Amino acid sequence: VALTKRGEFWFGKEAKDIHEFLKMYSENGYKVEEFRLASCKCSGQVFLLYADDTEGAAKRVCVACDHAHFVGDSEEYWDEADPDMFACPECEGEHSNIGVGFAFYQSSEDIRWLYVGCRCVDCGLVGVFADWKIDYSPSKQLLEQV
Ligand SMILES: [Zn+2]
Ligand SMILES: [Zn+2]
Repeated sequence: VALTKRGEFWFGKEAKDIHEFLKMYSENGYKVEEFRLASCKCSGQVFLLYADDTEGAAKRVCVACDHAHFVGDSEEYWDEADPDMFACPECEGEHSNIGVGFAFYQSSEDIRWLYVGCRCVDCGLVGVFADWKIDYSPSKQLLEQV
């Protein structure tokens, strides 16, 4: 098992451990069936993460090249959003790996729920920073927009 628990938080050794965390997190809800690790066009995997859990929108900014990217369909909702920036509750670090988990409607390629997971690159803490419902079709294109 790649994840370890210390106190109330879970920690992972590497970016892909976000996947395992999301599966565990969604176990009793809309289960994560697909996972994509966020990678910048410069191939960087460390980001600042901004999200509004209520509005359902997230944006990542690459630490290496400053490129900003909206996660999934977030750009459409960004004007209404009141985003918080991720800061690790364990070490206050702001740099994270980001991985997105997807749950699907039954017997469908359409996405039902999207989870924005992150892993603090300083201490390894993993968590879900925002998650929201998807209620339109087609939606599987969001898999390629993490
Ligand atoms: Zn970049
Ligand atoms: Zn941390």
